[in-house]
This record gives sequence, structure tokens and C-alpha cells, in this order.
Amino acid sequence: MNAQSNNSSNNIASLPTSAPPSSKGSVQSWIYDQIFAAILEQRLAPDTKLAEDTLGEIFGVSRTVIRAVLQRLSHDDVVEIRPNRGAVVASLTVDEVRDVFEARRVIENGAIDLACKRRKKSDVANLKALVESEQEAFEGNDRGAWIRLSGEFHLALAGIAGNKALEDTLRALVSRTSLAISQYETPGQSACSQQDHFAIIDAIDAGDMKSAQQEMTRHLAECEAKLDLDEQEKGTDLRTIFSNIRTGNDKSETL
Ligand SMILES: [Zn+2]
Repeated sequence: MNAQSNNSSNNIASLPTSAPPSSKGSVQSWIYDQIFAAILEQRLAPDTKLAEDTLGEIFGVSRTVIRAVLQRLSHDDVVEIRPNRGAVVASLTVDEVRDVFEARRVIENGAIDLACKRRKKSDVANLKALVESEQEAFEGNDRGAWIRLSGEFHLALAGIAGNKALEDTLRALVSRTSLAISQYETPGQSACSQQDHFAIIDAIDAGDMKSAQQEMTRHLAECEAKLDLDEQEKGTDLRTIFSNIRTGNDKSETL
């Protein structure tokens, strides 16, 4: 990630450049990044319909290109393609969010085990540089970049483990976590703490697998605890949602 090029006067400066690149493949990636960032920044709410023709006009490409991008976003679980309805921004239930964190605890502790055995000296320096960029984005209130970079730290760690199947599995889980953060984040709370990330790196650097795993387990539990999941569970009660509604018997209160 190229955090050095951030312009601090603009809080969407982390978004990929607004001019499309020249080659076809990179145009798709650019549109993918634009839509993903809009979802992370809650400019596109869960269940919003993503019409191919409208998006094609906005980005100046054919529906075929948009369809390919939406397929890719769907593969990463950020978009759902529903029969007869087309693509919509995905949303996660509270149970799905809890499952994602449980799966991450299992997979990431396994990744740490492998990373401690296979790491090279440069891996640790690269991880530190990534978390420094994440910290800059957080301090600059660059929410989209921060959520993305905090996920990339976890993926870079899985990359050091040197197992593509594990990395691919984690990539889908990190995408779903980003979606969960955008959907359930408690205002004013940061889901991933850079201090935790640095503590995990230090333990890996020292070759202390057990303490790196303990830090990771604690870190993921804290990320989950910072999401407003209990509140959402209460919110599914229809009587709570419609508690302001008065029936004909107490008209005086509503008129
Ligand atoms: Zn984290």
C-alpha cells in the first residue's frame, strides 16, 4: 500500500486514483477498488442494488466489464448475486459475524505457527511498514484505507505462512470482516488496534509462537467485542423496533 502518497486534506485520499487506468485488466481492478471502498466507507449500504447498466455509465465501461467486477466482489463475499434481483451489497447477520471471527481464530493461529517456522528477516520489516501505514491512515481519519490496511496486515501474516489455500481462505474471511466492521462498528471505536498488531509482530520476530498466538486470540476477541453485535441482536425484536407506534386506542399521543 502506498500510504506515503496520501493527501491528509482529503479523507478519501486513500481511494484508488479516480482516473481509470489504461489496460483492460487494471480497469476492472480499479472499478473493484472503487466499489469495495464505497462499501467499506458506508457510502453503499447493505442490500443496495448494484445495477449493471448504471454502474457501466458511471465508470464508462460495458455491462460485461461491470458483471465481471460484480462476480469478483461476489467471490470475495462483499456482494451477493441474487436470482431475479441482480447484485446487491452483501450484509451479514450477527451469527455470521460470530462465525467469521471463530474461523479466523482457528486459521490465524495456524498461520502464526507456520509463519514462525518459515519467516525471513525481511518479512518482519515488511509487516512493521504495513502497520505504520495503517496507523497513518487511522490518525488521518482515512477510514477506508485504515480498514483495508488493517485487513492487509492479517493477510500479509498469512502470506509469510507460505500456504496459498490458507491465504485464500483468510482473504474471504477478511473481506467479510471488513463488511462486518462497516455494518456493526460502534461509533468512535477502532476495531483493529495497531498496538496489538505491533505486539504480534514482536512475538513472531522473537520466534515466540505461543505468545504470538495468545496476542492474536486476544486481538480477534477484542475486535469482535468492539462491534455492536449485542445491540443488533436486541434490534431484531419487532416490538422494540416499532415501540414508537401507537394504535387507535391512544390517538391522543400520536396526533
Ligand atoms: Zn487486526
